[in-house]
Amino acid sequence: MYDTIIIGAGPAGMTAALYAARSNLKVALLERGIYGGQMNNTAEIENYPGYDNISGPELAEKMFAPLDKFGVEHLFGQVVRVETDGPVKRVVTEDTTLEAHTIVLAMGAKHRLLGVPGEDTYNSRGVSYCAVCDGAFFRGQDLLVVGGGDSAVEEALFLTQFANTVTIVHRRDELRAQKVIQERAFANEKIQFIWDSVVEEIKGDDIKVQEVLIKNVKTGQVTTHAFGGVFIYVGLDPMTEAVLDLGITDEQGWVVTDEQMATRQSGIFAIGDIRQKQLRQITTAVGDGAIAGQEVYHYITDHVK
Ligand code: FAD
Ligand code: NAP
Repeated sequence: MYDTIIIGAGPAGMTAALYAARSNLKVALLERGIYGGQMNNTAEIENYPGYDNISGPELAEKMFAPLDKFGVEHLFGQVVRVETDGPVKRVVTEDTTLEAHTIVLAMGAKHRLLGVPGEDTYNSRGVSYCAVCDGAFFRGQDLLVVGGGDSAVEEALFLTQFANTVTIVHRRDELRAQKVIQERAFANEKIQFIWDSVVEEIKGDDIKVQEVLIKNVKTGQVTTHAFGGVFIYVGLDPMTEAVLDLGITDEQGWVVTDEQMATRQSGIFAIGDIRQKQLRQITTAVGDGAIAGQEVYHYITDHVK
């Protein structure tokens, strides 16, 4: 029986584990992949205080390092269901069932699919959702980036070090990305924009992507463009499949919490990108994690010990 099981070892989960373990609780941190979460897909982080510029994997390593010192137990597994039976909570993975007094949901979010013909067919054959992972395979090519948020524009900038040109296609005529990132993109000679437009279809040969059909949403005109790769950054969906039965999510699937990170289910907390919130960042994930780590301690003191 754990005092708390934290599901997901991104920045939110690692911080919650640190705070809960430093309160002398029995803490398990359960992850299905590698520690660090979405930070592992980020080449350069410039907005985490204390670091001028640090790579995502390096920051993940620094967050992970102190956990052992405070006795956090590391578990590996994909959570498929969370059950609550009064004071006892159960985490069901593909292999086992674990019990705890409290659970902290920190499963984050995953990239959204574009949902156009060719996206699935050419996935990993020219279609990618991770410039850091795949960018180097596209040296000297003309690339398309879809989306107008921080991810699309930042990753387009990252791709310019490999690509011949990078075109950003955005469905409006104004970017959503932070101004400082926008300005860098506008100043970069390798980056060009196709405004008010969406991808209609991704086409290729037997091997890989060759061209993309793009529709101007104002005129309805469809044009064909040659691209060697398509990087898709059209937002995030919450990783809440395992908790949809608990009645703690909104219509889009994000977990609703109060300011103490408590969900509607007593003893179940949620932190980081999985929450219904405005700003999904490493700093806010870490802040949520600190609050939840402390709240778990209060819950255990009030209800268990
Ligand atoms: P995540 O980082 O998503 O971690 C969740 C973890 O839970 C993952 O490790 C996942 O494997 C695990 N998990 C999920 N489901 C299960 C399950 N069922 N069972 C077990 N484990 C599970 N933010 C910034 O502040 N600065 C940046 O420069 C920046 N750049 C970014 C660049 C890109 C390309 C992207 C995609 C995001 C970027 N962000 C940036 C956003 C930032 O990475 C996220 O806000 C942050 O990682 C959220 O942390 P989290 O711990 O809530 O979730
Ligand atoms: P996002 O902010 O939700 O932006 C998604 C973009 O895709 C928007 O521009 C949106 O257009 C567009 N879009 C959505 N659906 C589309 C569709 N079907 N077809 C075409 N375009 C579509 O997502 P994100 O950029 O992945 O960022 C996710 C979170 O991570 C944000 O909170 C972001 O701040 C954070 N992040 C931060 C950094 C950083 O701080 N450096 C870097 C990366 C990510 P509209 O603009 O018209 O809605």
